[in-house]
Amino acid sequence: MSLLSAMIKTYKGDKASREKTANLQRRRLIKLIKYAKSNSPYYKELYSSIDDELIASESFKLIDLPPVTKPELMSHFDDVLTDRSITMKRIDDFTSDLSNIGKMIDDKYLIFKTSGSTGNPAVVLYDKQNIDVSSAIAAFRTFARKEDYDRFMKHGKKTAGVFADYGFYLACGMSKYLQLKMPRKKTKINVDVNAPEAKIVKALNAFQPSMLSGYPSNLALLADFKELDIHPDVVITGGELLTDQIRKKLEDRFGCYVQTHYSCTEGGEIACECEERHLHINEDWVIVEPVDKDYNPVPYGKMSDKVLITNLSNYIQPFIRYELTDRIIVHEERCKCGRTSHWLEIEGRTDDILEFENEIRIAPMSLYKVLEEVPDIRRFQLIQRSLTKLELRVTTDRDKETVFENAKKDLIAFFRKNGLTNIMIEPSDELPQANKTSGKFKHIYSDFN
Ligand SMILES: [Zn+2]
Repeated sequence: MSLLSAMIKTYKGDKASREKTANLQRRRLIKLIKYAKSNSPYYKELYSSIDDELIASESFKLIDLPPVTKPELMSHFDDVLTDRSITMKRIDDFTSDLSNIGKMIDDKYLIFKTSGSTGNPAVVLYDKQNIDVSSAIAAFRTFARKEDYDRFMKHGKKTAGVFADYGFYLACGMSKYLQLKMPRKKTKINVDVNAPEAKIVKALNAFQPSMLSGYPSNLALLADFKELDIHPDVVITGGELLTDQIRKKLEDRFGCYVQTHYSCTEGGEIACECEERHLHINEDWVIVEPVDKDYNPVPYGKMSDKVLITNLSNYIQPFIRYELTDRIIVHEERCKCGRTSHWLEIEGRTDDILEFENEIRIAPMSLYKVLEEVPDIRRFQLIQRSLTKLELRVTTDRDKETVFENAKKDLIAFFRKNGLTNIMIEPSDELPQANKTSGKFKHIYSDFN
């Protein structure tokens, strides 16, 4: 499938009836399952009791297949892939050379490392089809309002992303990939979210983006810098929950429409926001199943404990009923905007911005990025107990002492870099846990007066 054909299919998909989309989704699902079962040793084994005839039959249901998790897929990495020539060993060699960011291994696959909600990063390959579908959805569905899209086109599609600009993260890797493909086009920049604020402000002022994207909490911090003098046509956030408060703050500061979308490296573009602020699921390319703790389906309108996603465009590394820890509500009722797809609400990451002495403020995403890089950390929670003291809770399958030591070292180095030399990190015996009143889980929050 070419980019053009992905574009045409995706453009049409947005207008199709629910029945038509359901049929298309099913055809793509069956094709993917059959492909995974014949080409991936892992899925062959996992689906060994389900025969091909059943899969092709009317009675086959997606819930007949077992869910898969990140630790499982990562520990069987080579076997999950549908191309035997690619191995974790080769990927390690390839990604150890940072000049390979945005380049394809064997001219076939892009490699990304994820951020995720459970600590350990995943390694995700994108084949050509997955790249084309992501590009097509980005082109046709990202913008909630046509007028913003028109202005963006008129102003030369100048896009600035303020994301993690180290390593093989999706936003960074994808923008390098496009730069390498079209080296003369200067329509995209990526500014490292962890660079000093003055440097970020300078880069954005010089570039004058039409579209500004980044993590909501980081953009909210940047918005406080008076020196920041940009006039984007639209702000599109991602990676964390966009709260009403931050949306309003950014709208006031930049005088433009502010919106979000829901995506992850493994699932691709899962849902795009409309002008009703509803996240419409890209049902032609991804299947979203809200489930409870035991993987039972959760009905429309009810909050799930987690969600299973099936990415219908990734054939090199199939994600079929892949568990994400997000809690969502899927809505069946039609949306006023006219889009036909089901839409969802997400209870995303709602971590706090931490405040320290000398008015130094640290965005949660920056700390999140530090902690998720710590080897063997499975889950974590960082609680600010005073201006100088933070409590760290972790879960790990390995030696907890070592994980604490490594995390402590990295956190202290990070705080020093940000001008905080007196921060103490206290390891805790408690496990990361949700707030007992709200039931919401925060990875990073402040709890003192
Ligand atoms: Zn809508």
